Parts: sequence; structure tokens; C-alpha cells
Amino acid sequence: DVRHGPILYMEDVTVSFDGFKAIDNLNLTIDDGELRCIIGPNGAGKTTMMDIITGKTRPDTGKVWFGSRHDLLTMNEPEIARLGIGRKFQKPTVFEALTVFENLELAMSADKRVLPTLTARMNGAMRDRIDEVLEMTGLVAQRRQLAGILSHGQKQWLEIGMLLMQRPRLLLVDEPVAGMTEQEMERTAELLTGLAGKQSVVVVEHDMGFVRSIARKVTVLHQGSVLAEGSMDQVQGDPRVIEVYLGE
Ligand code: ADP
Repeated sequence: DVRHGPILYMEDVTVSFDGFKAIDNLNLTIDDGELRCIIGPNGAGKTTMMDIITGKTRPDTGKVWFGSRHDLLTMNEPEIARLGIGRKFQKPTVFEALTVFENLELAMSADKRVLPTLTARMNGAMRDRIDEVLEMTGLVAQRRQLAGILSHGQKQWLEIGMLLMQRPRLLLVDEPVAGMTEQEMERTAELLTGLAGKQSVVVVEHDMGFVRSIARKVTVLHQGSVLAEGSMDQVQGDPRVIEVYLGE
């Protein structure tokens, strides 16, 4: 059962593009309910790592397991998504001509598993979940607003909300605070730290102040493998990490 082990286990993963190792013997374990930040200079392999977890990129060698039961390397992208791995890309892709409520409704209906069993009871459960997600994302007052007129931060939260409709077990989030105001960053920190525990969250982020505000444990990627791992203080004081960032 995934509740008792790591939610994600990657062992000796390597991926080459035309002979260049974008991921080079990567070992990474994410515990169930953990909020982990992944940092690293440009080209470190952060995006490729996320692509491997979601099945978009197939590694040449290594192991990638979700919980103790699911070998992700035997599964395709839709199958992996259906296991409960959600990914939020940097740019929000909400449906601008629909309301916040309708966006969340659509995010739930897109789940093929519920379509054949849509009953009045299911609709009730769906409305309850939408209310919950509106609460979690701080968008209660915006439920009837068109997504197109939301602020940049609100669009990002709505898209996280759309992922939450499916109750993912692992959420992968790419640069959530890029372009956000200080206040929006604080709100995003609350949202992501509030999610951890209920689900596991992996955040790739460049803003060190933000990483410090949310992460208990940080993984530094460099040249496709883990350079350092620990608290923000530990990794920022690591001479190898300092060297890599100064050299950027
Ligand atoms: P990051 O997200 O940390 O900036 P990436 O995972 O995007 O790093 O890239 C890691 C390395 O792999 C980079 O040197 C990049 O140029 C290379 N790379 C990524 N994807 C491809 C691809 N599809 N083809 C060739 N090279 C790639």
C-alpha cells in the first residue's frame, strides 16, 4: 500500500538525448504526503525528471515506481495520470470563457471513470468537491466569475484546483510563483503547504525565498543527478551547491 512507503521511487535513472545524458543515474525518493522542492540551474534536468514521472519521456535505464505496486515504466501517460499523478505546467491553461465553477466541473467530468455513473448522488458529491476545492484555492468569491478575468495568481490557483478535483495522490508543480506578486506568493505557499499531508507535492521552483518558505526538504539537481539533499540551510551551505550556482 502506498500509504506506508515512498509514493515515488526512482533508482539509477538515465536518459540520453543524442548521446547527451540529460538525466544521469538519478536516485530520488519522495515520501507519501511530503512537500519536496526541486531546485537546480538551467539544464539540470528538472523538466526531464518530471517528464519521466508522467510517462512523457521514457528512460534508457533505471526504475520508477509509484508506491510499491506500480512500475511506471510499464505504463503510458494516460494510465499514469489515472493513477493519480497530476502535473501543473508553468503557464496556466484554464478555460477563459467559462466560469471558475465550470472549469472545476469540467476538470471532474473529464475523468472518464465517473462519466458512466453520473447520477444525482454523484453530482452532489461533485458539487461538494467543488466547494472544497474553491475553499482550498481561495476562490470562493470568484466561483461565478469568468476565468478569463481572473488575476494571474488566481488563474494559477484555479488550475491547481482543476487538478485537485481528481484527488491526485502526487502533484507535480512547475514554477508556481513565476510572475506572481509578493502577496500571491504568500497565498500560494499556504495553498501548497496545506495540500501536503493529504497528497504528495513536488515543486520545481527558481525563487529561493519561496522555496525556503515552503520546503522542509530540498533536492538540488545538477547535470542530471542529485547534487545535494536536505533542509534549505543544509543545501545552501553546501560548497558544491554554492559552486554550481556561482558558476551559472
Ligand atoms: P531543466 O528543466 O533543469 O532546465 P531540462 O530537463 O529541460 O533541464 O534539460 C536537461 C538537459 O537536457 C538540457 O541540457 C537540455 O538541453 C537537454 N534536453 C532536454 N530535452 C531534450 C530533448 N528533447 N532533446 C535534446 N536535448 C534535450
